[in-house]
Amino acid sequence: MKQNIYFGYICWKISSRIEIKNPFHDLTVCLFVECVDIIANWDTQRFRDIAHRFSASFLYSTTAFFVLTQMLYVVPQVYDTSGVMYKLGCLTTVFITYNILANMSACKRTDTSVWSLPWDQLCPSPEDESLWRYCDSCERLMPPRSWHCKVCKCCILKRSHHCIFTANCVGHNNQRYFFWFTFYMTLGLLLSLGNTIIFMLKNFDYFYMITWLWPVAIYLDEFASGPSPPNWLGLTIMFNAYILLPPLVMFMFQMVSIWRNTVIFDLNNDSYNLGLRENFRSIVGQKGLWTFLSPRLKSPLPHDGTQCPEKK
Ligand SMILES: [Zn+2]
Ligand SMILES: [Zn+2]
Repeated sequence: MKQNIYFGYICWKISSRIEIKNPFHDLTVCLFVECVDIIANWDTQRFRDIAHRFSASFLYSTTAFFVLTQMLYVVPQVYDTSGVMYKLGCLTTVFITYNILANMSACKRTDTSVWSLPWDQLCPSPEDESLWRYCDSCERLMPPRSWHCKVCKCCILKRSHHCIFTANCVGHNNQRYFFWFTFYMTLGLLLSLGNTIIFMLKNFDYFYMITWLWPVAIYLDEFASGPSPPNWLGLTIMFNAYILLPPLVMFMFQMVSIWRNTVIFDLNNDSYNLGLRENFRSIVGQKGLWTFLSPRLKSPLPHDGTQCPEKK
């Protein structure tokens, strides 16, 4: 009975969110944001403990699994181990793995809450006071574009969303790290999928590969005449293909938020859109695209998060 009431409440929340003009955005908000919000409301402490630990462990173990499978099994069989491509493949794997883990760690360590501001910035100047808003939970005025997070229990500067992998909110100060984290996750999984597909095409009948990637096409097995791959390899390629989707979707959301200078909660709002170049710099800082090299590269942001220049 309790579960039915709870399920009904989630359906009602979802249906109240969906608008006809942008169903893709609304449905995704429902699935990724609304449900997380409802669960967080339900039991915040439990949500923190279980979701954060499980998500981080899943990410670390998945990364380790793909790195080891690629380095020890797939790449040595696809490329000549004494050739340039093999060495390039190994170097690329190390670089991507470093950037996934280092950007995730930097995103987790960087405080983007309102309390990260110097104390003299916590109150608005008389001319900016009308732009600040009152937060009922924090019971004080907060800078424009800051939103309260029920899991972090504070207001976040230019809050995008609460990330269960980094166990904190993504906002003004750490969006750079989250952007590169999703980019390198997507790139790493795409490359490992590409390598595994080449390996399977070289050694096994391609009908088997299609049925592993898309189990609905199981009838294609009848047409296969060559050797079949071991089940563990088939499961690996299937897991790789489906696990690629979440970081790819998050990366696409990041691209849209850079394109319009907005956040996931408010993708339709482009009133802060300053042009692609300025939008990108407002997230990654003065070094721009060079920040792809490492999260350790210093790249100061154009402002502290209390000023939000609007489109003229
Ligand atoms: Zn607040
Ligand atoms: Zn949060």
